[in-house]
Amino acid sequence: MASSLTYFQGRELAIVTKHKKEEAIVPVFESKLGLNCRVESKIDTDQLGTFSGEIPRYLDQISAARKKCLLAFDFTDCDLVLSSEGSFGPHPSLFFIPSDFEVLFLIDKKNKWELKEFILSTDTNFASAEIKNENDLIKFAEKSGFPEHGLILKASNGGVNSILKDFSNLDELLTAFGSLAFKTDSIFVETDMRAMRNPTRMEVIKALANKMANRLLTSCEQCETPGFGFSRIVSGMPCSNCGNATRQALHEIHSCISCKHEKTISLIDSKGFADPQICEYCNP
Ligand SMILES: [Zn+2]
Ligand SMILES: [Zn+2]
Repeated sequence: MASSLTYFQGRELAIVTKHKKEEAIVPVFESKLGLNCRVESKIDTDQLGTFSGEIPRYLDQISAARKKCLLAFDFTDCDLVLSSEGSFGPHPSLFFIPSDFEVLFLIDKKNKWELKEFILSTDTNFASAEIKNENDLIKFAEKSGFPEHGLILKASNGGVNSILKDFSNLDELLTAFGSLAFKTDSIFVETDMRAMRNPTRMEVIKALANKMANRLLTSCEQCETPGFGFSRIVSGMPCSNCGNATRQALHEIHSCISCKHEKTISLIDSKGFADPQICEYCNP
């Protein structure tokens, strides 16, 4: 069976990014897969929406990442393109805890397959607040890891919005705050989530790049396409008390991204049964 290493060795990968995400991705993809990476920054990815809210994000995150790859094929002669998208907000199951959801999307035009990979991390400084005075701002800056992590100031006055960013030190931040405070009475600060201004986010992207590269190292046993791996969970672990199926995961299905080959990975451990606590019959 051909290994994934020979599949990618020496091929060119175009990474679509304007925000220096290649710093997190290139070392991983070059060392693990032997790809020659280059950055494709000609595409105006801001067309697809920006973090600071100047342009509303109109595509969902995975579609946006895929769209970036497809746009790139109009500009590059590379047949392998990778893009990345992130979003930030409350964690879907841990209430009030901020989270970073990152997507990587890879399209191999030559071999006609696509692979998406995600990560949901609570490792983020994502936050925003209304700022009444300099003290509030200094506290927020300390908590956010400023100046290594960027901050954005926003204010509106009579329908005119001001957005200020790229401060490199506290003096610049306070001066900008002073200039806004002069003409408006409500000012908001938020963490800058662009990768090059957010080292914590950069680390999450790096972890995701590792996850995707590791997946690409596993090939399908049937057609030898790389990227064989997790696709879905099948629930139904039997209850240890009554034997009925519960919502707990019973199997993982791993599948090929090119052909229809699948493998069932059993999650039945030594206990082999689910706790009656989560059984709808025993604990309705
Ligand atoms: Zn039961
Ligand atoms: Zn296959």
